[in-house]
This record gives sequence, structure tokens and C-alpha cells, in this order.
Amino acid sequence: MSESAGPPVTVTFAGSGDAFGSGGRFQACIHVRSRDHAPVLLDCGATSLTALKAAGLDPGEIGVVFVSHLHGDHFGGLPFLILDGQFTRRTSPLTVAGPPGTGARLREAMQALFPGSADTARRFDVRVAELAPGTTQAVAAITVTSWEVDHPSGAPPLALRLDVGGKTIAYTGDTAWTGDLAAVAAGADLLIAEAYYFDKPVPYHLRHADIVAHRSELTSRRIVLTHLSADMLAHEDRVEFDVAHDGFVVAP
Ligand SMILES: [Zn+2]
Ligand SMILES: [Zn+2]
Repeated sequence: MSESAGPPVTVTFAGSGDAFGSGGRFQACIHVRSRDHAPVLLDCGATSLTALKAAGLDPGEIGVVFVSHLHGDHFGGLPFLILDGQFTRRTSPLTVAGPPGTGARLREAMQALFPGSADTARRFDVRVAELAPGTTQAVAAITVTSWEVDHPSGAPPLALRLDVGGKTIAYTGDTAWTGDLAAVAAGADLLIAEAYYFDKPVPYHLRHADIVAHRSELTSRRIVLTHLSADMLAHEDRVEFDVAHDGFVVAP
């Protein structure tokens, strides 16, 4: 099948796990391919370069990485992605779009992991776009709306909503339940929702029980759960929604 005959948007969960490798899964890394744009990532956890290659996805094609929040399992893969671009002689620019503070935290991460790497001259630009919570803006011709959520991480944590390839993809990131998630999901083609635990209360995270309790408020056409702990995986037979796994592909 030629690319033009395929679905307008393809979402691949390269990483669907939590921070701790539960179930042998990779950390948060969701790849979105559309006809109109270079592929984008939603989050780039520390394991993401490996996750992309395991899924057969070319890291060098990624145009924008949208970062929900500045925890290592969501942005810690960026130094590796950037260095991979350097050593593969990438030339196309890479944009990192994340919460206020993303530029400084990315620089710190690069310097901590590969000293000197933050100032290395490369054949490609790394551009940082900081997303003001509560606004809609265009990043590399993709419209993104962000909401501040409830997940302390040293910078405002965000839920994100992308308009890409004629589809709307909503993403909770990590957060305790907040009423704004109804707006994040409203009418979206796909809601990617954290479901860290099944029903045990855990601060600053969503559970399957929260998604069930608020199901009527979440008006997306489809919901896929991700960021799964061992507890959640142990309850998979009782889950009432689609559940991602590494390599899971959705055409919203
Ligand atoms: Zn987090
Ligand atoms: Zn996380």
C-alpha cells in the first residue's frame, strides 16, 4: 500500500510503560505520522531512542517532540535523540516543544549526560518552543493546545491536544484527575490517557478507576490507555478500554 493510500494519521506507541520498566516496556514515547508533517513524538522518555528503533521508526525523521512534562521518563530521551542526529549527520531541524523551562532543563540534561554536548555545533538546528499553559499556538505548522495539569515536575506539567493531519489527538500526560481533562478530550479523534494504576490511589497520577468514573465527561471518539504500571498490567483482563503495548498502532 502506498503511503498516500494509507490512513491520514498513524499513531504508534513505541513506549507504553511507566518510569520503571514495568512489564519490560519502554517509557513514554508516542509517534504520530501524518501526510502533512514530519513525524512528531508525544514525549521522549529516557528509553525512547531504543524504543523507536525497536518499532522500526526512524529517529532522524522526527520533526517535533512535544513534551508533556519534565520528568526523565517523558523527556530524558532527548539528549540521546539529539546525539543520534549528530552522529547520523542529520540536517533537518528538530523542534522540542514543552512547558516553560524546557530549554534550560534540556541544556542541563545534555550537559549532565554528555558534558559539552549542549554547545556542540551540529548540522541541524535544535529549536525549543515553550508552550504557555492555557494557550493554543502553532509549532512547526502543527496546532497545539496546552493545559496545566496536576503533576509536580519542576515546571508546569501539561496535557496536550494536537491538530495534525486533519485529526485531533489529545494526551493527558501524567496527572491527577482534573476537570480540564474533559476539555482536553472534547470531541478528539483519540484520547491517549495515562492509567498508571488500576484502582489504588496514587498521588499525581491517573488510574483506570478515574477514567471509568469520568467516562461520560470524556467525549473523544476513542480512548487508549498508556503509562502502565505492573499493577495495571496485572488487572488487564478487567480493563474497559483499549490498552497500548509497545508497538501498538492506532489509526484515529
Ligand atoms: Zn511524571
Ligand atoms: Zn511518567
